[in-house]
Amino acid sequence: MTSVVHNLEAIHNKMRHACERSGRQLNDITIIGVTKYATIERTEEAINAGISHIGENRLEGFLKKYEAIQSQVGWHFIGTLQSRKVRDIVNKVTAIHSLDRLSLAQEINKRAEEPVECFVQVNVSGEASKHGLAVGETEEFIQKLSAFEHIKVIGLMTMAPYTDHTDDIRRQFRALADLKRTIEAKQWSHAPCHNLSMGMSNDYDIAIEEGATHIRLGTCLLGPS
Ligand SMILES: *Cc1c(COP(=O)(O)O)cnc(C)c1O
Repeated sequence: MTSVVHNLEAIHNKMRHACERSGRQLNDITIIGVTKYATIERTEEAINAGISHIGENRLEGFLKKYEAIQSQVGWHFIGTLQSRKVRDIVNKVTAIHSLDRLSLAQEINKRAEEPVECFVQVNVSGEASKHGLAVGETEEFIQKLSAFEHIKVIGLMTMAPYTDHTDDIRRQFRALADLKRTIEAKQWSHAPCHNLSMGMSNDYDIAIEEGATHIRLGTCLLGPS
């Protein structure tokens, strides 16, 4: 396996080019190292290489890494979250990227000791297999979240389809960015919504060109499973 330092160099280069093409700054983009297939040792290697945000998509993986590492990094929950698992992570996370229903918001609100930063997950493609709200439902959903004092909507998240059709991917990222701007313009105090969590190993350059602030990188950073 190549070193994380080496992988990160290649990623930074690609990010830099995407930033140049879109007039953005590297500093405005946070890399979340997705460690779901990585060992604790490999995760620590990533942290030593400068990764300061870790993402996990399952409760077990999250707790295993969180408890072993206990370091000053940000912890992101990026996967589907069952309501009954909320209490195990809610006071440990930096952000939850998969808020997609009111029952989940209610549970987060109940279990949280302080406001939790959340991304609302949007299913831009409309694929039945994907989680998240339809684009047309999102604004009303976020408006309703004002009822929950412990929820702060800091942005929107999506997963693009796994495809070589980069035009499709770009169109979806652009749609999410448009939706983010619409919500941002409402200036709701519970939902500043300044961020976009989009882009994974195979499409993060497109995501950056379309405004991503948080890219979630597994394979290209830590190596294949
Ligand atoms: C696994 C995963 C990623 C990272 O995927 P890669 O293609 O390995 O970079 C990003 N986001 C979510 C929600 C994931 O589950």
